[in-house]
Amino acid sequence: MLAEIITIGDELLIGQVVDTNSAFIAKQLNKIGVSIYQITSIQDDKAHILKALSDAEKRVDIIICTGGLGPTKDDITKKTIAQYFNDILVKDESVLQNIETIWKQHVRTELLQVNKDQALIPSKSKPLMNKLGTAPGMWLEKGDKVFISLPGVPYEMEALIEYQVIPQLKDKYNCPFILHKTLLVYGIGESALAARIESWEDALPKHIKLAYLPNLGKMRLRLSTKGFDEAKLRQEVQDQIDKVIPLIKEEYAGLEDEDGSVEVVIAKQLTKVARTLAIAESCTGGAVAERFTSHSGASAFFKGGIVTYATESKTNILKVTKADIEAHSVVSAQVAEAMAKNAQQLFQSDYAIATTGNAGPTKGDSDAEVGTVFIAIATKTGVYSEVFNFGNSRIKVINKAVNKALEMLLKEIFKN
Ligand code: ATP
Ligand code: MG
Repeated sequence: MLAEIITIGDELLIGQVVDTNSAFIAKQLNKIGVSIYQITSIQDDKAHILKALSDAEKRVDIIICTGGLGPTKDDITKKTIAQYFNDILVKDESVLQNIETIWKQHVRTELLQVNKDQALIPSKSKPLMNKLGTAPGMWLEKGDKVFISLPGVPYEMEALIEYQVIPQLKDKYNCPFILHKTLLVYGIGESALAARIESWEDALPKHIKLAYLPNLGKMRLRLSTKGFDEAKLRQEVQDQIDKVIPLIKEEYAGLEDEDGSVEVVIAKQLTKVARTLAIAESCTGGAVAERFTSHSGASAFFKGGIVTYATESKTNILKVTKADIEAHSVVSAQVAEAMAKNAQQLFQSDYAIATTGNAGPTKGDSDAEVGTVFIAIATKTGVYSEVFNFGNSRIKVINKAVNKALEMLLKEIFKN
């Protein structure tokens, strides 16, 4: 089964907005065995939209568009789709009701005609009810091809994909079950890892595919398979995981969530065992904390974070002693460990992470080489730190430090 994604919006083509909708949709469709043949971004322009639709129709079975469904004049997707289907726009009562409900709950001013008009949809379409906004999604069919039009607002589009589009596509096409399991591996390069697990890899059953996904100091090893017997597939993949873990015992850090990431694994575990976390950051500037708070449910375990960037903030707020700083400099194991310990106390948490380093390009309040980062972890029983050099590109240093901090915490919380 093949699909194409067409994202519509002038803002995408001038670089003002990055097209994240396509990546989300591609990922979700892949999970049900639908491959993406092409992703296209186009202007809010009638001729351009018509051309994109007819081109896509020649190539694929499923065409998903996002954007341009709003109430304003520049949003022309709906009218253009009606024209493509030789159709007219008619009022859909259920959509109108949904708009009225949303309006009452969130807007409370008088409902304008332009918003009422959002209940107009092509007569040949089935509405996909958007509980989070006033623009409905639309599902149309032409022969055995499906056309889906969704609003551009990412969270509205995401909810429609998850709760309406995916279940309906699964129904229509009898999609196979697709399973991905991803192992997180740290501290070993791609070729060394490949050599280590070579005989296991060679013996993998044909229908289980292996992919190496290296990224800033961490490796992900993904096993993928698809078929119709979910229980059997899960068992087969689990058997392979059980075989490979002993080969990478030291480097293996855990299983990544089916579509989550390290911080999601950490979040789940901390929530499960009812332990809490605090973070004290210097060179990562809040980026470690942000990784946790970008997922919902963080308040269950995340007590808080503090960015003590200036040396005086490390002493004034985080109570790192001047003596430690003078003796060892701000970029040191002693300061990293004091930051972690004191953050743990300040926030009354079970664990704390601290980062201090020099992300460059120039040296700051310390003589440490550019790229030097100390990361400390405080636990109930003590505190320890490690030092790294992450090179001389500022953004890379920061991202690698964040990944490393998460890796250290992951290993720590799974120790017992
Ligand atoms: P609305 O009813 O809110 O107007 P819409 O269907 O008209 O919805 P657009 O006006 O195209 O959608 O976009 C709404 C918002 O979503 C804008 O902030 C836009 O930048 C963002 N957006 C649109 N397309 C994408 C995309 N492909 N990836 C990420 N963000 C997007
Ligand atoms: Mg709009």
